[in-house]
Amino acid sequence: MTTDPRPDGPGEDAPTLHPDTRAIRTGRVGDGTSLAPVLWPTSTFVSPTVDDARRMATSVGADRFYSRYGNPTVSGFEQAIAELEGAEAARAFASGMGAVSGVVLALCSSGDHIVAQRQLYAATQLLFQAVCPRFGIDVTFVDGTDPGAFADAVRPGKTTLVFAETPANPKLDVIDLDEVGAIAGPVTVVDATFGTPVLQQPLRHGIDLVIHSATKGIAGHNDATLGVVAGSRELIDWIWGFAVLQGAPASPYDARNAVNGIRTLPIRVRHQCETALTIASALEARPDVVDVRYPGLASHPQHELAMRQMSAGGTLVTFDVAGGLEGGRRFVESVRIAQHATSLGGPETLVTHPASTTHVNLLPDELAANGIGPGTIRLSVGLEHAGDLVADLAQALDHAAAG
Ligand SMILES: *Cc1c(COP(=O)(O)O)cnc(C)c1O
Repeated sequence: MTTDPRPDGPGEDAPTLHPDTRAIRTGRVGDGTSLAPVLWPTSTFVSPTVDDARRMATSVGADRFYSRYGNPTVSGFEQAIAELEGAEAARAFASGMGAVSGVVLALCSSGDHIVAQRQLYAATQLLFQAVCPRFGIDVTFVDGTDPGAFADAVRPGKTTLVFAETPANPKLDVIDLDEVGAIAGPVTVVDATFGTPVLQQPLRHGIDLVIHSATKGIAGHNDATLGVVAGSRELIDWIWGFAVLQGAPASPYDARNAVNGIRTLPIRVRHQCETALTIASALEARPDVVDVRYPGLASHPQHELAMRQMSAGGTLVTFDVAGGLEGGRRFVESVRIAQHATSLGGPETLVTHPASTTHVNLLPDELAANGIGPGTIRLSVGLEHAGDLVADLAQALDHAAAG
């Protein structure tokens, strides 16, 4: 444990403070009088006595022993996420997938059963499909938008984990957090990357663990590869014990960048949501765009649910351009302000064409099962001016249509 020398350390902040204020004050573990987060690039720490070293080697969450166990810069990031999610504790990982695989492998053993939703980040889906069976872990996939589907698939005494993602890849399906949170028995986990802690707090709906790829909106500047899980002290301590053996700890450099990113997270996300709604409405008005998916639009199949559990519609918009595969390719090659790159949540607006990139190896019926059409585009809305973005997307659509 590190002590905060300031009389009004973030830990003593009134629970009534708004998230914007919390984002500024949090994550200052052991930073002393430095205003900016302090970078501890060290892999190891000097112990004055053998007893000190022994104490640190045997205490869960030690952050001044060896950096695979914990690191003060990383602790600052973990504290910030725990505070923004209303959690007792958090553990950071080297990536979002480090957090996903760490949680699954820390909590599940051979013979266990997992209920997971079908609409998942592709790597998470592969972990459940290809890796879990190798360890004798059985996985049932359900349609996460189907009411009661998660609970119906739970096998009492067998199911140890229920895993959901909302809003989900790539079509922004919204999962009912209250419904998943009400499931008793298994540990319930939500990958809330697309929402960030600004738009939704799954733990407040009874979910046990919330996971983020902090690589995305949380760090928010495409300068960190980072994951995190937050929940009760008991669950996080258990996961910590496995994580030390798994060996995918967060880099202090990335944790420092993420704490800097968190300072502006609420204001960035709100602005991106506003622009995303403007863009989604503009796209919906075009005849050469079909199936515009944005949780903030009344046309989204779970719009009411989204507005109940999210404070805005999110920073991503998914849509299909006319002209199939060729139309989609022409579109991503024609954007000038938006850029063609994988990832999301940063200041730069990004477009991806899943059918020719992330999901290129899937057969047409598998693509359809994932909700991905040949002309599907996923748009991560950045911080450029909304008018410039709308104009850019319009000219790229004109190009795509012209062939
Ligand atoms: C990116 C992402 C991940 C994986 O995170 P990495 O940091 O790339 O390992 C997991 N879930 C979702 C929803 C993501 O967008």
